[in-house]
Amino acid sequence: MKDEVLKVSQSSVAQALAADYFCIYYVNVSTNKFIEYIASPEYRALGLPTTGDDIITFARTNFEELIHPDDRKYFLEYFVKEHILESLDDHGNFTMTFRMMFREGPMYVRLKITRMIEEEARHVVIGISNVDEELKARQAYAEAQQASLTYSRVAQALAGDYFSIYVVDPVTDDFFQYSATKEFDSLEVEKEGRDFFNASRKNMERLIYDGDRERFMAIFKKERIMAILERDGSFTMKYRLMFSGTPVFVSMKATLMEDDHGQHLIIGTNNIDAQMKRETEYQQKMAEARTSARNDFLANMSHDIRTPMNAIVGYTNIARSRRDDPEAVMEAVEKIGSSSHFLLSLINDILDISKIESGKMQVGTGPCDLGEIFRRIEDITALQAQKKSLKVTYCRDTVRHYKVLGDELRIEQVLINIVSNAIKYTPAGKSVELIAEERPGKGRVNRYRFIVRDTGIGISEEYLPHIFESFTREESTKINRVQGTGLGLAITAKVVEMMKGTISVKSVLGEGSEFTVDLDLESMEEETPEVREEEESVSLEGRRILLVEDNIVNAEIATVILEQFGVKVDVAENGKIGYETVRDAGPGAYDAVLMDIQMPVMNGYESARAIRTLEGDYFAALPVIAMSANAYDEDVKDCLAAGMNAHIAKPFQPDALVKLLCSYIHSGK
Ligand code: ADP
Repeated sequence: MKDEVLKVSQSSVAQALAADYFCIYYVNVSTNKFIEYIASPEYRALGLPTTGDDIITFARTNFEELIHPDDRKYFLEYFVKEHILESLDDHGNFTMTFRMMFREGPMYVRLKITRMIEEEARHVVIGISNVDEELKARQAYAEAQQASLTYSRVAQALAGDYFSIYVVDPVTDDFFQYSATKEFDSLEVEKEGRDFFNASRKNMERLIYDGDRERFMAIFKKERIMAILERDGSFTMKYRLMFSGTPVFVSMKATLMEDDHGQHLIIGTNNIDAQMKRETEYQQKMAEARTSARNDFLANMSHDIRTPMNAIVGYTNIARSRRDDPEAVMEAVEKIGSSSHFLLSLINDILDISKIESGKMQVGTGPCDLGEIFRRIEDITALQAQKKSLKVTYCRDTVRHYKVLGDELRIEQVLINIVSNAIKYTPAGKSVELIAEERPGKGRVNRYRFIVRDTGIGISEEYLPHIFESFTREESTKINRVQGTGLGLAITAKVVEMMKGTISVKSVLGEGSEFTVDLDLESMEEETPEVREEEESVSLEGRRILLVEDNIVNAEIATVILEQFGVKVDVAENGKIGYETVRDAGPGAYDAVLMDIQMPVMNGYESARAIRTLEGDYFAALPVIAMSANAYDEDVKDCLAAGMNAHIAKPFQPDALVKLLCSYIHSGK
């Protein structure tokens, strides 16, 4: 073997070739013995034996480690004696390409086995050459090819969406058609030509819908379009083309594209007829809905008012008929309370929407107890949910601060609106969840998130974007005769916006809806666990109050309530009598005056002003509290301007009235 090697090594051809190789081995095919003829420094560094008895075992055992893991399987599968001999017989050589792990890193190599030209053909040469650069270059080329192929495929796919695409040279105005549908072809427009803009204008004389011609001609001018492209990057225009006598909505879009060959103007025209028809139909439907909603407004309102009224009347009867069962009476009274509250909120909705529409809506900030809000929501919703056998769950595990600065009534209104809707639009047996979360924000301001999730009827994709508009309702809810006015969410969204919060909605028709309200609220205390605090035991026992009220029922309600708290009540039936009574009774006679506003002879404002004109500290300091059904913010302001101390809206909660009276009487404010 050695002799043979020596003999061949003398060949200068072999020497010259060896320079391209990492290594070259000689192998005796009959014995499988091999010897290394040449090895480069990097190959030598792998530390392989230079000679051995079995080339196949040598290669399979030593090379496995040295081959890139991804190529190992391939190597072991193909580097098999039978394969090699077969290939040598068939092609005169055997080659494989794979990556070898050199110290310097993986490199592509080509292993080539060729027969030596000798009489018995007993020897083969195995050479491993470096093809790393060549292979990498080829790969990069292939990748680029692939990318350009994909690019053109993308272009093709997009072109399919267009009626036609034209490419225009903005310098020469030469143009050609990149793609067009058969339908577009039927218009018989040139596929290439010069002076794109004029050619198009000429075509449009013939093709455009009469009603759109003038506008098109005014806009479709080169300078104008180029100026818009410069400014906005793209230009779009909608118009109708006549197809066999029928106008079809199309949208033209022009964009400027730049490549190695300079700028191109790409003009694509799209058939948007179906889309436009849907849109128009929807707009029409919405407009009709709005008109009919306004028309139905009163009818709806009376429906909505009747529902809680029904509960009030019903439970009043129950209470009356079961007067011997205090528990049943209490329960009925509770429900009457909740329904009254609901009714009140409904009436407030009507007031609110008119306030919003006249731009007079305001939100205030004052002490606000989220715990109270939740309790009231639970009271109200329990009644509604019970009727429908709905499961309502509440979670507020992460809420740490319940006493915050905010508009308690408005926050409650927002949440009640959303929860009531969830209940209203969720069929029996399904569920509604109200989750309140608190996350720390900046300083004392914390971030509250209220999520109302239901598994109800859901909201259609078409209606969803309109859900916060007033007087709109989902078609299906009307068909299903669910009562409503389409006002609640309009007010809700406006109120949330005024509180600098956000409201959003996600919904899947038939599966349910999720409303999320985010509000930043400043906490008033370090930590306020949700416990019903015992009211400071203030007493009105023995106090004297003058009630100025012309309505006998209202006067009686207030008197009965106040007397329950030990107050002695005198009633004056109008502002004039009220004023005279205070004046004639003299200093110290009354602890406070409760003043109705709208009264015959003399109204509340005038009466209050008159009282303040009376001489002496007592008359200046006497608490005069307006008690009125005029509950607009301006009404409150007017009361204060007339010299009154505070305002409480009718109908009032007894607790609230007593609390207010106490705060003035005891503090002597
Ligand atoms: P309405 O008085 O009609 O309930 P809203 O403004 O509160 O008025 O709601 C507007 C419309 O939004 C409703 O008529 C209803 O179609 C839809 N909607 C509101 N909340 C839900 C909900 N949770 N699930 C399904 N639809 C809802």
